[in-house]
Order: sequence, then structure tokens, then C-alpha cells
Amino acid sequence: MNEIAARLGEVGLPAPVSELAAREWDVVIVGGGHNGLTAAAYLARAGSSVLVLERRERLGGACTLERPFADERFVISPCAYVVGLLDELVISELDLRRRGFRCFVADPNLWVPFADGTSFGQWLDDARTQRNLEELGVSATDIDGYWRYEELFDDIRKRLRTGPRDVWVGDSPSRAEIEELLHGEQAMLDVVFDASIADVLDDHMSDQRLKDALFGQGVIAAYGGPKDAGTASIKLMHFQGDLEGQGPVWGYVKGGMGMVSFALADAAREAGAVLACGVPVAAPHRPHRRQHLPGRGHPGSDVGAAPDAAHAGARFLLLRRRHPPGRQRDRPQRPQRRDGRAG
Ligand SMILES: Cc1cc2nc3c(=O)[nH]c(=O)nc-3n(C[C@H](O)[C@H](O)[C@H](O)COP(=O)(O)OP(=O)(O)OC[C@H]3O[C@@H](n4cnc5c(N)ncnc54)[C@H](O)[C@@H]3O)c2cc1C
Repeated sequence: MNEIAARLGEVGLPAPVSELAAREWDVVIVGGGHNGLTAAAYLARAGSSVLVLERRERLGGACTLERPFADERFVISPCAYVVGLLDELVISELDLRRRGFRCFVADPNLWVPFADGTSFGQWLDDARTQRNLEELGVSATDIDGYWRYEELFDDIRKRLRTGPRDVWVGDSPSRAEIEELLHGEQAMLDVVFDASIADVLDDHMSDQRLKDALFGQGVIAAYGGPKDAGTASIKLMHFQGDLEGQGPVWGYVKGGMGMVSFALADAAREAGAVLACGVPVAAPHRPHRRQHLPGRGHPGSDVGAAPDAAHAGARFLLLRRRHPPGRQRDRPQRPQRRDGRAG
């Protein structure tokens, strides 16, 4: 296990804030979630001096690990709990397996219980899913529709990710590029841009239990319902990974989801990025506008990034810790005292 993982991402401050602020950085990344850490790793590997500022006491953002109970044996993933879209390119380029990342594909990949005691399961073995559908009494027409529905999403995935261009790599694709990759097929374009998950399901099946079981994939993390336009693209988004070479499936991460972030953090730190926790950033600003900052009134420090960095010429107002790290808490209602960290 890497050292950051051993500390569940509580890396503390590598130097006093005043010292970090006195240095000029190529890039200052606000937020040590998995995306900030990935950016830090790649930028540092490319030779930039990088500072990551995380306001919480631990790295990982919503993809982290916590000990919420007094009994320290319980370590949980408080938010994200399954991996699906972490790309093999990132895993291999940042050498995440050497840093402790390991995952197991979930089987069943989806399991939905019904009120009558029956259930629908999507298994890695299609024959088992087929048997499950037959046992549920789903009509042959609807079973056929179910497989066509899954194939539609899989065909879109293959065209967008495994054809002449992998749209996840490099610049974001334009609408015209996507239309070309999908050969202008309207059913596919509807899924990508407009359709609700309910519309797409209605086009393929009539069995209400099956539809109820599948609506969820269209509304994950969405503030909306299955009939809202665009929800088909949410299912599609989650259907574009290729976890462990097994296609668009979900997996469980050994040790919990935070292990992804901690492996990324390890890669960033090894490449030279400096990671600092417990440092809330008030706002990026230009020095001459400092007196107008919303954070004005808090004791703070400036930290600067070079003009050619992303957020060109930005300076950031750092709010000083109001408590020594040992007393700082993510969740005030949590009963146990947290260990102190260097600050
Ligand atoms: C309840 C829940 C369940 C989820 N389940 C899954 C799942 O199972 N699988 C999955 O793949 N995805 C899941 N997600 C989505 C996934 O967790 C997010 O997409 C991912 O965490 C986003 O990463 P990020 O780095 O962009 O942002 P975040 O994880 O939000 O990280 C942002 C970081 O920036 C810090 N920050 C913010 N403002 C400041 C500031 N001013 N100064 C300093 N630091 C700051 C925050 O403290 C945080 O650590 C879930 C999300 C939630 C909320």
C-alpha cells in the first residue's frame, strides 16, 4: 500500500502555508479530488511545478475513504463506491496498479429486487441474464428488445471509443465529429444528444418491471426523472468504459474507492507535485482586485501561479486554518477525535 493510502489521504501540510505561498508555481490546482490529482500527476510529469490545495483534511473528494465510526476497523467509501470509467490509459500511464489499485468486476453488474420477491440481474454471463429474464416471465419480444437495447448502447460505445478515433482521448469531439463517427444514425444520435431513457426503453420493450429496473441507469446522479430529455446519455456515459478489458461494467476497488484517488495522489507526488490538505482557497483573483474578494476579512495568504499556466496569471487567496489540524473535522457531528497531522 502506498504511503498516502496508508494515511487514507490525510497528507497534511508539507510546509507552512506562508512558505507555500512564497513560492511561484506553474500551476495551482484547487481541490484534491481524483480529477485534480490526475491533472496534477500529468502536469508534474510534463515538467510543471504543481501545487494541489485541498480544503478538507484528506484527499479524494467524493472518491475517498473515511473512518466514520469510533471503531477504526470500519473504513468506508462515503460517496463513490464502484468504479467503471477509470480508463486503462490512465491506469497504465500513471502505473496505478503498482501503487495499489486493484479492482474486481461486479457480478451481477446490476441487480434489482422487485416487491414480489423476484429480481432482475444483469450478469457477466449473458446466458444467465437470459435465463433470469425467462424465469421472470418476460415475453420473447421483450427479451429480444432488451438485447437490442443493450446492443444499441454497446454499438455507440464501440463507434465512439474503438473506431478511427477514441473520443475520450485528446480534444473533446465536436457534434459534427460525433455525427460522423455514428454514421448519422438517428437512433444513436438521439441517445447521445436528446432522448430520455424512458423513450429509448419504450422503443425496445413494454414490460414495466424491466423498464423500472433499467430506468436507474439513466438518472444516476441526475436531478431529474427518466422521462427528462438527455437521460439516455447518462446511461451512455456510464456505458463507455472498458474495465479490466471486460467492456462497460462496474467493479469494486480493493480497499474501497479512495484507493483510486490515493494511487493518483501517489503518482502526482512521485512526479513532483506538492499536495497540501486543510487549505481552503477563497477565490482565484488578480492582485489588484484583492480588496473586492468575497473572502476578505479572513486571515489569508496569496499563492501565485505563472502567467502561462491554466488560470493564467491567477493568484489564490488561501484561508488560514482556523483550527490546528488535529482539531479540524470534515463532519462536525462525527464523535471521535481525529489524529493530528503536521502543519
Ligand atoms: C454520493 C455520490 C456517489 C457517487 N458514486 C459514484 C460511483 O459509485 N462511481 C463513480 O464513478 N462516481 C461516483 N460518484 C461521482 C464521483 O464521485 C465524482 O464524479 C468525482 O468524485 C468527481 O471528482 P472531482 O475530482 O472532479 O471532484 P470532487 O470529488 O468533488 O473533488 C473536489 C475536491 O475539491 C475540494 N475543494 C472544493 N472547493 C475547494 C476550495 N475552495 N479550496 C480547496 N479545495 C476545494 C473538495 O473538498 C474536494 O475534495 C458519486 C458521487 C457522489 C456525490
